[in-house]
Amino acid sequence: MYFLKRFIKYYKPYKAVFFIDMFCAMIVSLVDLAFPQILNLLTNHLFTQNAELILKSLPWLGLGLLVMYIVRYLGRYYITYQGHVMGARMESDMRQELFDQYQRLSFSYYDQNNTGEMMSKLVSDLFDISELAHHGPENIFISILKIIGSFILLLLINIPMTLILLAVTVLMLVFSVNQNKKMRAVFMDNRRKIATVNASLQDSLAGIRVVKSFANEPVEHKKFERSNLQFLDSKERNYKRMGTFHAGNNFFQGMLFLTVLVSGGFFIALGQIKATDLAIYALYINIFINPIEVLVEFTEMFQKGFSGFKRFVEVIDTQPEIVDTPGAKDIGVVKGDIAYNHVSFSYDDTNMVLEGIDIQIPAGKTVALVGPSGGGKTTLCSLLPRFYDVTAGSVTIDGKDVRNITLESLRKAIGIVQQDVYMFAGTIRDNIAYGKPDATMEEIVSAARQANIHEFVMGLEDGYDTYVGERGARLSGGQKQRISIARVFLKNPKILILDEATSALDNESERHIQDSLEELSKNRTTIVIAHRLSTIRRADEIIVISDDGIVERGNHSFLLERNGLYAKYYNMQFEGLTD
Ligand code: ADP
Ligand code: MG
Repeated sequence: MYFLKRFIKYYKPYKAVFFIDMFCAMIVSLVDLAFPQILNLLTNHLFTQNAELILKSLPWLGLGLLVMYIVRYLGRYYITYQGHVMGARMESDMRQELFDQYQRLSFSYYDQNNTGEMMSKLVSDLFDISELAHHGPENIFISILKIIGSFILLLLINIPMTLILLAVTVLMLVFSVNQNKKMRAVFMDNRRKIATVNASLQDSLAGIRVVKSFANEPVEHKKFERSNLQFLDSKERNYKRMGTFHAGNNFFQGMLFLTVLVSGGFFIALGQIKATDLAIYALYINIFINPIEVLVEFTEMFQKGFSGFKRFVEVIDTQPEIVDTPGAKDIGVVKGDIAYNHVSFSYDDTNMVLEGIDIQIPAGKTVALVGPSGGGKTTLCSLLPRFYDVTAGSVTIDGKDVRNITLESLRKAIGIVQQDVYMFAGTIRDNIAYGKPDATMEEIVSAARQANIHEFVMGLEDGYDTYVGERGARLSGGQKQRISIARVFLKNPKILILDEATSALDNESERHIQDSLEELSKNRTTIVIAHRLSTIRRADEIIVISDDGIVERGNHSFLLERNGLYAKYYNMQFEGLTD
């Protein structure tokens, strides 16, 4: 009931269309119900065999039928056209709502959910919902009108025969509902199997470069073939069920006619019913039976659409973990003092990744984080833009707790350069301007110059309008990284996080990028994580983080002198090298 109410809400903007749709549905049903009556009139006339009367009334009958059919045409046209459009609009509303919700949901949601499934919610679930939204009310309305209407008319023609008919109909209904249940089970299986096929396809395509580099096409073929064949198998079972269902229904219809003919003949013999009435009766049986079948099949559409809607609501109702707190204020002018005060953090409330961390970074200074992989460096950085919230303690910028700053202004104040660079489908210009869509061409070029990528871009045939390919496939790692650095130059944040920005690059590209990064961190408070210690020597403070938390801190020469973990790392990397 709750879900039904939620569902009905989406009809609200389309109330007018909905009611016209229902009105048309009523008209269409009435025309269908009236047809045998007209025929009845006609045959009654024909049987009088009065030529004059027949000729006189024929044009009127013809005209009456014509008007009815035109009205039905208009009704059907409206239902099919505007009804579908209404469904599509509701679907589009929901799709946008779902998309926006996906944008709102926090990192933690994405840690736990599969993007393939999210895609399927956007595509197939919503399509099912749209079908239900449009066909649902119309089907129910038309069917019920026809069933009730034709049943009354059948009763009016002959009561005993209609009771016999009802008995056979109940038998048919039991069969139908029963078969339909089985069909639905197979259908659900179908759904799961196609999801597996899609997942397998998506996974393989996304990893196509790895597949090829391992020459693993045959392995992928096998994997795909398995799910593909399972899907086929499931479909075959589905069609078998469908065969039983449809043929069975047909058979029962035959039984209905058989019963009617035999009992009808019997009643004619007894003089209880006229032969013409029997013919009309048979026509009404069709009008009575078809909607029953439609309703039974409709249960499937209902189930599909409604379970899709439930999944939709589940996502819509998920509260993003990270949202603006009530009373959150814009960050205002940023100076750039950063402080971590007794910060503890855990992803799952059991394993503490960080415990009791204290770090102060005065505005404009650079702090470097060093330590073994998995020590928590990235995690520590992600607390600053509130990708996650601290479990205990606080993170402040200029003395303000980040939780009291609006998310938008907070994240606009922080620039991040990571190891993995994501390029959006589009041109180089689009990608640089990502953080400032209204940037002028001069600003874009200036950012590109600062990131040492301008010359490269100018060397391309289409310059800044060069399409980067899916995920930037047409660019090298170093080029992508420089574009991402240009992005941050353009954004011009007061605070900068460099998380292994050069780790994926070769020495040559790294040296190029090092200059841009140094340029970038000028006048900005910077947290830098790097696996090459040469890049962090100049940091104002170096903090060594391991699983045990902060184990050492100080500047480069202090830590070398101390001869602890940092010195050990440093010597390991530069053994035999003169720098
Ligand atoms: P570093 O950047 O120092 O290599 P991370 O901050 O990435 O370390 O990871 C610290 C710890 O937190 C690791 O044990 C890692 O497995 C865990 N971790 C990182 N990201 C997540 C996440 N999204 N969900 C759960 N655990 C995570
Ligand atoms: Mg990391």
